[in-house]
Amino acid sequence: MLSILAHNTRKIQEATQMSDITKACRDISELSVSAQAACTLFLDKCKKAGLSVLITETYRPQARQNWLYEQGRTRPGNVVTWTRNSRHTGRMAWDICKHVKGQEYSDNSFFVKCGSIAKELGITWGGTWETPDKPHFEISSTWKEPKKEDDEMITKELVIINKNEYAMDAIRKDGNVYVKVRDLMMAPGIEVKSRGRIPVIETK
Ligand SMILES: [Zn+2]
Repeated sequence: MLSILAHNTRKIQEATQMSDITKACRDISELSVSAQAACTLFLDKCKKAGLSVLITETYRPQARQNWLYEQGRTRPGNVVTWTRNSRHTGRMAWDICKHVKGQEYSDNSFFVKCGSIAKELGITWGGTWETPDKPHFEISSTWKEPKKEDDEMITKELVIINKNEYAMDAIRKDGNVYVKVRDLMMAPGIEVKSRGRIPVIETK
C-alpha cells in the first residue's frame, strides 16, 4: 500500500516536472526585480509605439534549458538553442513575438523596432548577435533604468562665442542646448535688446 502510494506520488512528481519542462513560463513576475522593471518599461514603450508585443517566455528553469538544448541533438526536432547557459535561467531575459495571429515571427520590422526601443533602455536585443535571436531580450546584472532627461532642469553649459568660453544657464533637451538670449551679452561686443517681445541681437 505504502509503496503504491510512493509510486503514485513519484508518478505525479514526474508528470509535474515534465509539464514544467515542456511549458514556457510567461510570467514577468518570475523575472528578477530589475528585469521586471526593464521588461515593464520595454512593454510600455512598445505599446506607445503601437507595437503589439506578446511575451512568450520569461524565466526558464535549468532543467527546461537542458531539455531545449537536447532538442535537435539527443532528441528529435530543430535546434532551438545554442547554449545550456541562458539569461533566462538567471531570470534576466524574456522572449516576445508579434501579437498578431499568423505574423508572430514573420514581420522583421516589428522586431527591429522593438530592438531599437530596447537599445534606448539599455536592454540587449538578441537580434544584434552574430547568431541572431530576434525574439530574445535580456539585461545585464548591472542594468539600471536610464535617467529621464528632466525638461525643466537648468544646468550650467559651456558656450563658446568668438573663441571665448562662457558658462551659461541652459536646458538640454533632445540633443539641443537652450540658453537665454540675454546671456549672449556675456560676450564682449554682443548687445541684446528687445523690441516688444522680440529679442534683438546686435554686434557693437
Ligand atoms: Zn530568449
